[in-house]
Amino acid sequence: MIDMSLILLTSDETLMSNHHGKEFLGFGTSVPHNVIPDPIFKLIFFNRIPTKKGIPIQAPYGLRKIEAKLLDDGFNVLTVAPFRLKNYIHDADVLCISEMDPFGWGPSSSTFSKVLKTGKPFVALYFQKLLESKEVRKAKKRGLKIIVGGPGAWQLKHKPEFLSDHGIDCVVVGEGDIVVSKIIKMAINGGKIPQFYDVQPEEVPSVDEIPEIKNPSINGLIEVGRGCVRRCKFCEVTKRPLRWYPLDKIEREIKANTTKNDRAESIILHAEDVLLYGSKNTIPNREKVTDLMRLAKRYTDSVTWSHASIAAIAADPKLMEECSDIIIDDNQKWWGAEIGLESGSPRIMKKTMAGKAHPFNIDDWPEIVKDGMGIANDNKLIPACTLIVGLPGETDDDVIKTIEMVEDLRDYSCIIVPLFFVPLGQLTKENWFESEMITDIQKELLIICLKHGIKWSREFLDNYFDQKNLSNKIMSVFIKFFINAIERKASKEGLI
Ligand code: SF4
Repeated sequence: MIDMSLILLTSDETLMSNHHGKEFLGFGTSVPHNVIPDPIFKLIFFNRIPTKKGIPIQAPYGLRKIEAKLLDDGFNVLTVAPFRLKNYIHDADVLCISEMDPFGWGPSSSTFSKVLKTGKPFVALYFQKLLESKEVRKAKKRGLKIIVGGPGAWQLKHKPEFLSDHGIDCVVVGEGDIVVSKIIKMAINGGKIPQFYDVQPEEVPSVDEIPEIKNPSINGLIEVGRGCVRRCKFCEVTKRPLRWYPLDKIEREIKANTTKNDRAESIILHAEDVLLYGSKNTIPNREKVTDLMRLAKRYTDSVTWSHASIAAIAADPKLMEECSDIIIDDNQKWWGAEIGLESGSPRIMKKTMAGKAHPFNIDDWPEIVKDGMGIANDNKLIPACTLIVGLPGETDDDVIKTIEMVEDLRDYSCIIVPLFFVPLGQLTKENWFESEMITDIQKELLIICLKHGIKWSREFLDNYFDQKNLSNKIMSVFIKFFINAIERKASKEGLI
């Protein structure tokens, strides 16, 4: 044990939620408040996680990683729900907060707030609420150190005044698995901690150095790898090396999520492209992927994927069949994955993300998408797809091609969410896409996606909320209410 200083870990309320066991509802936290009454919205999209004496039964995966590293290094650390901080914060020396999107500048929040214009996204609102809470302010006055990290930490670099206004001592940008202990030691020992700590390439952990979570993650999310070989220019992930976890490491993290009968409620396999698990290029490794599916299914009735690529799906239809044979059974009727389609225009894809189509040719992108979507649906994979609107240099002709692609997907079971371009990755010097910049043809694309989303959300709702239990039935009523509200708003604006 290093010393007995108490380190608390938390995140804002939108992240410390299991979204009723439906990870996709987490998308709702990027919607601005005031669309429907806030308490109803909160109830639907980010219910409070159950706690035992303020300790959440599940916590965001990134926070669990930091918790694991600090436990391994002998710190006195507790992960606490943000709404129960007051029970512990008076004894704490350091508060670490993991944030996804602190100012709501991520692609989905910035798009929703620019389109709906009703206020701040919930995720940003609750981050601010957390820092401005009475208990945090009081603890800060007596010397609490506050460290913020997580995927959205980069945003804080653009507003250093926010740090001083809210008592943030240090922001860690990048994979903090290795450096966190060093920074905490500096904070405890009263040394000077840098306002911004950029994780250097030599501090990025190898697979063996990535700590293994010891307590349950939200909805059983388990990382199976980091990094991506496709190298899209707008993506931050490309800055990190590719690393795949071996199966025994994954199994130990699954076990952190199982209860007494050795079963987990659900497992979400997380990687930028789950189908490329164990592969060093863009060709799926059938044996490794099916072994991974078998491993996950051994511990749960519900396996789903965080992300996959449409090119990898199209590249190996046989593998998709094998995955479906393993995943789908009497207890599981479908599974989901987020898939970036980005654009229907090979021209602009070639400029910014030629690797998206590998091992195929990017010139054939619309056909690859259609083939991949057919294979996905045939095997009961229901994708949640994203598009980027306003890529640098996007022309009307590019948008028309994207509209054609979306229209071609009319009969495929999927959701398609258009997101405004955010300058990240190698494109940080480009301009943000603002709602005032939207052209008529881009508006048309948004409307087509909205109609597609409303149609398929309605079709899919009863499947998503298995109607066997009462709370699911109630949830689907609430979601129907939300879809109707969106439809009313869109029709009032003359959009549909
Ligand atoms: S495929 Fe996805 S994760 Fe990989 S570089 Fe492109 S956007 Fe990033």
